[in-house]
Amino acid sequence: MDVSLLLDSLNDKQREAVAAPLSNMLVLAGAGSGKTRVLVHRIAWLMEVENITPFSILAVTFTNKAAREMRGRIESLMGRGLNSMWIGTFHGLAHRLLRSHHAEAGLPENFQILDSDDQYRLVRRILRAMNLDEKHWAPRQVQWYINGNKDEGLRPQHIETHGDATAQKMREIYTAYQEACDRSGLVDFAELLLRAHELWAKNPEVLAHYQRRFRAVLVDEFQDTNNIQYAWLRMLCSGNTNNIMIVGDDDQSIYGWRGANVDNIHNFLKDFGDTSTIRLEQNYRSTGNILNAANAVIDNNSGRLGKELWTEDSEGELISVYAGFNELDEARFIVSQIKSWIDDGNSLNDSAILYRNNAQSRVLEEALLHEGIAYRIYGGLRFFERQEIKDALGYLRMLNHPHDDAAFERVVNTPSRGIGEKTITQVRAAAREQNCSLWQASNLLLTENSLTGRASKALQAFTTLVSELEQAVHGLPLEEQADKAIRQSGLYAMYQAERGEKAQARLENLEELVTACKQFIVPEEAEEMTPMSAFLAHASLEAGDTQADSEQDAVQMMTIHSAKGLEFGLVFLAGVEEGMFPSQMTNDEPGRMEEERRLCYVGMTRAMKKLFITYAESRRVYGQDKFHTASRFIREIPGEYVQEVRLKSQISRPVHNRFSRMASHEAFEGSGFALGQRVEHPKFGEGVVLNYEGSGDHARVQVNFDDFGSKWLVMAYAKLKAN
Ligand code: ATP
Ligand code: MG
Repeated sequence: MDVSLLLDSLNDKQREAVAAPLSNMLVLAGAGSGKTRVLVHRIAWLMEVENITPFSILAVTFTNKAAREMRGRIESLMGRGLNSMWIGTFHGLAHRLLRSHHAEAGLPENFQILDSDDQYRLVRRILRAMNLDEKHWAPRQVQWYINGNKDEGLRPQHIETHGDATAQKMREIYTAYQEACDRSGLVDFAELLLRAHELWAKNPEVLAHYQRRFRAVLVDEFQDTNNIQYAWLRMLCSGNTNNIMIVGDDDQSIYGWRGANVDNIHNFLKDFGDTSTIRLEQNYRSTGNILNAANAVIDNNSGRLGKELWTEDSEGELISVYAGFNELDEARFIVSQIKSWIDDGNSLNDSAILYRNNAQSRVLEEALLHEGIAYRIYGGLRFFERQEIKDALGYLRMLNHPHDDAAFERVVNTPSRGIGEKTITQVRAAAREQNCSLWQASNLLLTENSLTGRASKALQAFTTLVSELEQAVHGLPLEEQADKAIRQSGLYAMYQAERGEKAQARLENLEELVTACKQFIVPEEAEEMTPMSAFLAHASLEAGDTQADSEQDAVQMMTIHSAKGLEFGLVFLAGVEEGMFPSQMTNDEPGRMEEERRLCYVGMTRAMKKLFITYAESRRVYGQDKFHTASRFIREIPGEYVQEVRLKSQISRPVHNRFSRMASHEAFEGSGFALGQRVEHPKFGEGVVLNYEGSGDHARVQVNFDDFGSKWLVMAYAKLKAN
């Protein structure tokens, strides 16, 4: 291979980083400056010039999707497959390590991953067993507490309670939870990282092996590493036998709320010997206006490491700001803009709608569906997290490892087979008493005959089903195992009996699961596992960022958090209003406002050519109409980079707007009224038009009457008068 190929498409600074002699290195640079590109070229350079084999390279990315993309990019640069290279997320890599060294890590061979939903159920079960009221010990908070401590590397015995009763109780819950996990061979996400760290800490020979093996370690998005991840990297690189290159941007640190620690960038320079720093300053992604606007916004933060970003690109179009009357109007506007984007010959794949919270997607989805525009959601309703899929996976997990308590709980009475809460409580109690799994406890109760006749019969039906299924699927290909489990368990029939569209979708999903099994290729790192174990691990780990139909041209929808590292020709930032973004909670915690602003910076810098920022002056949140003003982040953009847009069909609103100076509205078809318009009703008096739906004789309008509150009226009868 001609190495100049690796350097030709880089600027001087990038080239300096890619071709640097082996040493520890920090590449610190703003969005779109080619950090990820540098990392990819560096890996190729290490192989070509430094003769480091792919086997000796470890690369860490933030999502599984980014890992796949990175592998693809390196392989196409090198022109060959690179299976032996480890590329993955911290969680994926930790999982891989624990699989290879389960014994040293103190885990059973077929340990299972507990996702956050299962973890939640387990926490609730522990609380019940400890007779703690969920009103005082909110399961989510307990979950947060456990994961937070694990992220800091803390086991219960490391936690100081200073004699505080609440703290002591929390620690007790953590202990009970961990015992339950250990008993059933369950590993939650935070545990993956902590165990992987402990594995090395307690087994120097295992650590030494990986220190020798991984001559080069490379980490993307370093600003969002948490403390346990940092400690893990530090341990790996403590032997002076390897080098580490990290790339990151302190302005894009957006996971502080989840324990990420941006100070790790500073710490890196202190803790790792012989480091050099390279800064990249040219942005290759965005037009001048987008880049300048994003720079102006982030400039309001203090304590930045300070980076200049410039572009050779032209100014491009102005950033457009649209104020929707409400969230429906906002969604309609976005859809209309997407339509003109494709009419201009662009692809849907190259457009993205980004929002602060997942829940915001529903209205946008409906508007897209209404216009028949395909969309794909990253992160929201993930296939492997859907109820019916989790039910089916529950059965597969039972077949794979009957002592999986979380799976047992999930499916023991799904579909309903008459096993009541009382029986399950008895099973749990027996399991606690005997210190065994729920499965073992069930069998015990049955042989001891200690249940009532009815309960015993029902529970027997379940244990027989699982045992028989286990025999029936033995040795069958993965997809046949799944198919049999779904049908013989009665799951399929249960959803069939439900009828309706939702149930239909669930059946389709179950069928899709069989397809997923069929298409599943056991990855190289999982060769020692049974195909089913490998598949179940894949389902837990991948739930986050894949979508079944990734081939289809579709608008990309996701939270701003999940858009990190990505880029799109056209970007919408939706719901950019005070109370939404920055979010309501921001005022309560110091530092949160700056993190929100970094999130805004991340969102804006995803756009290459055209950026729309939209907001809604009124929005239904948890069933209540909230009135919001434009986000401070919009006001922080200098006027020269922005234009306010209004729809063509809009008429000006006859009343002053007390919520915002930027307001514009669409007259709805043929009605003569516009959203936001003041109207008068013969009976209810005066009010403001909030919303409408349908057309012609079916058109309905929602009016917020001054004296009677909000009402939906049929247009044809309402006798509204413009006011
Ligand atoms: P982020 O901070 O958002 O992760 P980044 O710094 O990782 O951004 P990249 O995604 O690597 O930036 O690069 C941004 C875009 O600029 C990509 O499309 C990339 O291909 C392009 N790019 C980077 N460097 C160059 C270059 N020297 N010449 C041409 N294009 C480049
Ligand atoms: Mg990047």
